[in-house]
Amino acid sequence: SHETTSPVEEEQRAFDAEAASLLVKKLREAFASGKTRGYGWRVSQLKALAKLVDDQEQQIVDALGNDIAKPPLETVAYEIAMLKNSCRVALKELKHWMTPEKVKTSIATFPSSAEIVSEPLGVVLIISAWNYPFLLSLDPVIGAIAAGNTVVLKPSEIAPATSSLMAKLLGDYMDNSCIRVVEGAVDETSALLQQKWDKIFYTGNGRVARVVMAAAAKHLTPVVLELGGKSPAVVDSNINLKVATRRIIAGKWCCNNGQACISPDYIITTKDHAPKLVDALKTELETFYGKNPLESKDLSRIVNSNHFARLTKLLDDDKVSGKIVYGGEKDESKLKISPTVLLDVPRDSLIMSEEIFGPLLPILTVDKLEESFDVINSGPKPLAAYIFTNNKKLKEQFVGTISAGGLVINDTTLHLAVHTLPFGGVGESGVGSYHGKFSFDAFSHKKAVLYRSFLGDAPVRYPPYTTTKLRL
Ligand code: NAD
Repeated sequence: SHETTSPVEEEQRAFDAEAASLLVKKLREAFASGKTRGYGWRVSQLKALAKLVDDQEQQIVDALGNDIAKPPLETVAYEIAMLKNSCRVALKELKHWMTPEKVKTSIATFPSSAEIVSEPLGVVLIISAWNYPFLLSLDPVIGAIAAGNTVVLKPSEIAPATSSLMAKLLGDYMDNSCIRVVEGAVDETSALLQQKWDKIFYTGNGRVARVVMAAAAKHLTPVVLELGGKSPAVVDSNINLKVATRRIIAGKWCCNNGQACISPDYIITTKDHAPKLVDALKTELETFYGKNPLESKDLSRIVNSNHFARLTKLLDDDKVSGKIVYGGEKDESKLKISPTVLLDVPRDSLIMSEEIFGPLLPILTVDKLEESFDVINSGPKPLAAYIFTNNKKLKEQFVGTISAGGLVINDTTLHLAVHTLPFGGVGESGVGSYHGKFSFDAFSHKKAVLYRSFLGDAPVRYPPYTTTKLRL
């Protein structure tokens, strides 16, 4: 009956530091058994995860519908398909990734050979965020498994339906002696963070990232921090404006209604070009979402009332009054905010001083487009930066001078889908990276191994240190 609880559920009831310590102990024992190191175990778990995603598509779509009214197409395309692809790449490449890499040696060690051996780190903790809760939880898990680790996943409590679905499904499909889900919020995460891990992989905001890094420092645990920031999009005038506009909308409102870490946060264009861009945005937004976007099923809602209040505050700031040129409608009872464009907001307004993470898009204007580079570089380094231009020199300048986690020229967000590119931030937008082989590397230690024989035992390294030896 549903009154009997599994050992997994028992453990979840009161998840305090003691329970966390016990869990880590068990996973450490499982790791020490050597079970996770073999190619066979890794493949079996990657296949199990791929099967989970395949089998449970509808449940996943429903959970994200509950948590954030995410349109099914966005769930299927940006969470499910991405995960399937990550599993496929890992399964295809794993043998190759695991093979020690032979490297050249130096004359000083002659004769010798050397290789880099990727070894699993041990027991790793993955803490994930609510906005792409399925992808951001399981994509790092793929890296952790591929690299041969045991793993605890702590999903975000802000997406509770997805969190409990993942706890259930990972319980059903995966090897629970090595892969576990702990649900919960600050208390449970704090209990986990007190433990000694071999790696902590955190996705979320910079404030909590500092808590995570401080906890990790106590045990000298390395971290990957996947954070956010104000990702700009620079828009030139010599472009296919319609295509550019649609791609900006795709990266902003078609990504969880702007609640995505690499959504364009704001736009910079020239004063002359701004009216044309605003018109194009209006036209395309109306084509996509109709005259009453609050009713559109193709826009996620704001995740909860705290975030709704935060976004409302950005719009209520006196400094941006009268700056809305499109949208601005809200329905608090449904937690909906329509796509909203603001023109010429002051640089010291609230909306320009924090990551927006929602459906508001301010446009800044400059006299010459080159000035936009100074605007971007004067702030913290963003997770992504975009430019739309046909000007070769401008592209080169952009790539050469803008520091961000990743750049896309003439589109938005798509670098995320290229598994041969590392995904991660720089400075305030994060530490470390993942995706494809970078995920495997993020959860591996690169062990240096030098092989020598008993030949070539040069006397020069041994005392007595004579002047003749010094000159050699
Ligand atoms: P969130 O509120 O879900 O928090 C993330 C995680 O931190 C959760 O698992 C939560 O339980 C945990 N947490 C919260 N407070 C804590 C505390 N005091 N101690 C320990 N753990 C705590 O997500 P969020 O932070 O609102 O996510 C949005 C941010 O994440 C944005 O800045 C966004 O840009 C960034 N983000 C980055 C990526 C990326 O891949 N780089 C992806 C998505 C989101």
